Amino acid sequence: SSKNRVVARKLSLPETEKTGNRVTVFVRVRPISKKEKEAGSRCCVRIVNPRDVYLTEFVNPNDYLRLKRIRGRHFTFDACFPDSATQQEVYSTSTSELVEGVLQGRNGTVFCYGATGAGKTYTMLGTVESPGVMVLAIKDLFRKIKTRSCDGNHAVHLSYLEVYNETVRDLISPGRSLVLREDKQVMTLLQQGNHNRTTEPTCANETSSRSHAVLQVVVEYQVRDAAMNIINSVGKLSLVDLAGSERALATDQRTLRSLEGANINRSLLALSCCINALVDGKKHIPYRNSKLTQLLKDSLGGTCSTVMIASISPSNLSSGETQNTLHWADRAKEIRTKTWMQANDANEDLFPVTETGTDQAKLVLELQKENH
Ligand code: ADP
Ligand code: MG
Repeated sequence: SSKNRVVARKLSLPETEKTGNRVTVFVRVRPISKKEKEAGSRCCVRIVNPRDVYLTEFVNPNDYLRLKRIRGRHFTFDACFPDSATQQEVYSTSTSELVEGVLQGRNGTVFCYGATGAGKTYTMLGTVESPGVMVLAIKDLFRKIKTRSCDGNHAVHLSYLEVYNETVRDLISPGRSLVLREDKQVMTLLQQGNHNRTTEPTCANETSSRSHAVLQVVVEYQVRDAAMNIINSVGKLSLVDLAGSERALATDQRTLRSLEGANINRSLLALSCCINALVDGKKHIPYRNSKLTQLLKDSLGGTCSTVMIASISPSNLSSGETQNTLHWADRAKEIRTKTWMQANDANEDLFPVTETGTDQAKLVLELQKENH
């Protein structure tokens, strides 16, 4: 079945590619919705094999003026998840390695990108019945900590933040740092947090999420080195449900909405700029250009593992947005991060010191003070 193929492909990745120094990019197609069916939509997305997705109604950007010339196009990614893929498969293939890395003191970041309604929040948060990447990652993290001999030494700090209109808000524990003892209540906590997210009606969608939701899990622990010295280690996992990627132009043009659109683009743009600067080994990384990148300043590029999941709808009614999303995801494949060795040779600055849970809380407070 298609399920097994996705997992099999992942396992058969050549070693060089698996540990390779680039951003891993996945695409997930959600099932067609009742609304789309009722609107008489056709499916314009085919996953032809576990890596290739085919968009049957692709419009070549050069042909916009001659819209008669519509043709299909293939895109290749690290894996394409069909609408039958389970939450567990998406988690295992995309994020479980990053969780392992966090327990070895490394940072990892997963972004979910796509238009409103394409399935970003379903993938990242999910539902009580089908929890998504955020919940499965925390469960897996606690499961892994419990199997460690030094499990008592781990402190897990959690923050769930919203970046909306260049303003940072704490969605679950305003004004304090949250230390998580177990994974039981995580779904409830995150769902309540999501309920606090800013959603505004727009012309294009009944509710449109114009905010970025950032879950950061900082794990601090002590290990003994070969000489039995105690070493403090910190790893950070950032899981980001980005705002809808649709252009503000496609919706209402009222001033506030336009301002929001500009800021959303500013955060997304700042994100690409920072990653590119890190990749090029630039001295100056423009983290300060947006709140999102300030929050992620020790979680991008360098030796941090970065994963992008692009969410798309299968409906031809969304083919324009799907095309934009696949284009963006295709470009993201070109982003290269440094392996540990390369980074060490090239530039010491590529090792930003990971903030501890307490430092992280301080940073959030600082960013909130700047809110207007
Ligand atoms: P976004 O966050 O990108 O705006 P959502 O995650 O809210 O989109 O998804 C839109 C709708 O589609 C929701 O009702 C969600 O439950 C449903 N949905 C999205 N992805 C899937 C999926 N893989 N399987 C089942 N339902 C999904
Ligand atoms: Mg959403």
